[in-house]
Amino acid sequence: MIQKRTIGIVGTGHVGVAAAYAVFLRGLCSEIVLIDKDQERAEGEAMDLMHGQAFAKRVTVRAGGYRDLANAQLVVITAGVSQKAGETRLDLLNRNAEVFQDIIGKLDRQAPKAVLIIATNPVDVLTHVSQKLSHRPGAQVIGTGTMLDTARFRALLGHHYKVDPRSVHAYIVGEHGDSEVPLWHSARIGGVPLVNQTISGRSFDRKGMDALFERVRNAAYEIISRKGYTNTAIGSAIARLVEAVLEDQGSVLPVSRLLEGQYGIRNVCLSIPTIVGSSGVREALLPRLSDDERAGLQHSAGVLKKSLRELNL
Ligand code: NAD
Repeated sequence: MIQKRTIGIVGTGHVGVAAAYAVFLRGLCSEIVLIDKDQERAEGEAMDLMHGQAFAKRVTVRAGGYRDLANAQLVVITAGVSQKAGETRLDLLNRNAEVFQDIIGKLDRQAPKAVLIIATNPVDVLTHVSQKLSHRPGAQVIGTGTMLDTARFRALLGHHYKVDPRSVHAYIVGEHGDSEVPLWHSARIGGVPLVNQTISGRSFDRKGMDALFERVRNAAYEIISRKGYTNTAIGSAIARLVEAVLEDQGSVLPVSRLLEGQYGIRNVCLSIPTIVGSSGVREALLPRLSDDERAGLQHSAGVLKKSLRELNL
């Protein structure tokens, strides 16, 4: 008998629904349980998705509670509170950390074996907080980290060099946020390094490349100023991570994970290329960094450690 694959999504706002939709269309599991503190919202989203069943693979979507996650292999957390007028980033972080205290406690009781994927921002800090709060092994708590930033980077590089973004091997590492670091030194297309090479008639122009990275770093601000939120690309990124875990793919993805001495950094969650499978994160791969990249990663770790120290938990 084929094993039933259940995943849960906690928080069915813009991001949670985009993730559910991407998982649904790709038929990555047999059942998706949607949980939101606004039960009616979760019910509405489940009904809407189910009406697309005639056009998709056979995935059942239903609104539920934590008890429905007893057999879930994986739970995605996209629940969060949004910033109130006059509230600082740190106030927001503290409120989201409180939300997580409640959610992780319930997941530990009802779905103790599931791998957790954290997408709520600030994702690196909340991944670290979730690892501390949860009884499960830290490797089973994964942050989406710079998966989205890396996808944007590859999309823009692919466009620039006129190649398929899937053929661009280039990572953004560190914080999912302003201190993130593009790894130019190890960036390749078809095994050819980008730095100081010409591909599709395009040479590596430092100024142009810095401007391209700025577009990646500012993408969320640009999108939010136009549509109010970002959701579809992160939904696709979450579905990719769900696939890597459920199918034990051993995919190398730039996810947020605890560093334990890699590049001399420890006790902080941030993104570096990491092998991901059914037990969560495995080995971290350590591409060779230029001096600037190493300094950038250290700075990013410092920024995240400061946020962790300021938390009230
Ligand atoms: P949203 O406000 O549309 O949705 C949040 C949902 O969480 C709401 O439906 C709300 O009812 C629910 N919720 C709040 N507290 C809850 C609780 N205790 N239990 C269950 N549900 C609860 O927000 P959104 O646009 O979907 O964004 C969600 C999060 O994802 C934000 O933190 C956002 O910054 C983040 N995000 C992350 C990335 C990334 O790359 N990691 C990208 C985009 C957005």
